[in-house]
Amino acid sequence: MTNSCDVIIAGGGVVGSSIAYNLMADGFTGRVVVFERDPVYEHASTPRSAGGIRQVFSTEVNVRMSQYGLEVFQRFEEDMAVGGEAARIDFKRRGYLFLLNDRMLAAMGNQLTLLRRLGVRVEVLTPQETKSLIPELRVDDLAASVYSPDDGYMDPYSVMQAYVRKAKSLGVEYVRGQVAALMRDEQGRMAGVRLESGEVWRAPVVVNACGAWSGDLSRTIGVDLPVAPLPQQVFCFDPGDPVQTPLPLTVDVSGVYFRHEGRKVIAGRGEVGAFRYDFGWQKATFEQKIWPSLAERSPNFERLKLERGWAGLYDYNPVDHNGIVDGYDDIPGYYVATGFSGHGLQHAPAAGKAVSELIRLGRLETLDVSALSPERFRVGQLVVEDAII
Ligand SMILES: Cc1cc2nc3c(=O)[nH]c(=O)nc-3n(C[C@H](O)[C@H](O)[C@H](O)COP(=O)(O)OP(=O)(O)OC[C@H]3O[C@@H](n4cnc5c(N)ncnc54)[C@H](O)[C@@H]3O)c2cc1C
Repeated sequence: MTNSCDVIIAGGGVVGSSIAYNLMADGFTGRVVVFERDPVYEHASTPRSAGGIRQVFSTEVNVRMSQYGLEVFQRFEEDMAVGGEAARIDFKRRGYLFLLNDRMLAAMGNQLTLLRRLGVRVEVLTPQETKSLIPELRVDDLAASVYSPDDGYMDPYSVMQAYVRKAKSLGVEYVRGQVAALMRDEQGRMAGVRLESGEVWRAPVVVNACGAWSGDLSRTIGVDLPVAPLPQQVFCFDPGDPVQTPLPLTVDVSGVYFRHEGRKVIAGRGEVGAFRYDFGWQKATFEQKIWPSLAERSPNFERLKLERGWAGLYDYNPVDHNGIVDGYDDIPGYYVATGFSGHGLQHAPAAGKAVSELIRLGRLETLDVSALSPERFRVGQLVVEDAII
């Protein structure tokens, strides 16, 4: 075996592995090698994610990518089975529930119009209707809530592992190794990668799917990819007084989100702070920023017991908070799928399908995600997503 192949994918998280899987499932016959530096995925974002999938976005491309993701996850267990063993991902279609004050409700008008035009089942509930949905909630301060019953959440680690297993079963090779630099040839085309070990692998197509680390990798060929590591903390607690109603992924007025994790509950809040590779979580953050909102929202959360926490990185695009998915006209063979800013798990099926089509066919067929091309930064046509959690 020489160190050459047809497609190199740098990063074997949910996005890289979805691309690898889709390529093979779509009939690609070349040699595909995924380089993943950490086979146990200790710091990868995917296993640290909250596992949510929702159609309630403010941009058409994101709604459509989630709709595609829902279709894929609905059949995932069977489609991704290997050797007759189903790919269990614990997908719970319990919906998303956004609790709103007057100002938030007024601001959602255009978004609701968009969602309905795109066929999303979305209901505006009065405070009393919200309480009938989850009797454990306090609703007296709410103007309304928005409920999308077809959305839900799943186990992100199992989703990623299912893609890895299925991709391998279809012939994809996973090689343990850190990609130190991308390589171009004299004409400027993509030529391969150099690993930290010094080993060189050649391929005419290289996909950068390194998540929060993808901006750093892109800089090795001087391409400015606006993706930075944005730390986020998640907490798991025993509510003490159990919430009997199976919780939708509920987003409080304060921005704190919570959902069931078995009999426990996990909660967090999207934070925008300094960009850094930081995996520390603080009990004080929970006590000061999360618990007060939880306790106010439900008496069941007043005497909760915090059990554990963790921190992971958003692959954050500070320019317009959206995925970046496409090739580069001026660097033939270079593709990126990154920058998902908190929604990369749910958009991994669509991103994988799109990159597979771009590589195999040179065009998008299934879903038009051209709005997410990095070309948008050059021409100033940003796709600003307001509904970031
Ligand atoms: C706390 C939290 C909650 C989230 N909640 C949700 C949610 O509810 N729903 C949702 O859709 N998304 C959510 N996300 C976002 C989602 O987790 C990410 O967008 C998604 O997992 C990104 O997948 P990825 O494969 O690009 O990145 P990763 O999973 O990070 O995979 C990238 C891989 O690349 C490897 N790598 C990096 N650099 C190199 C290199 N140079 N050489 C070789 N390998 C390399 C890493 O080891 C890693 O395994 C959340 C994220 C966090 C942190």
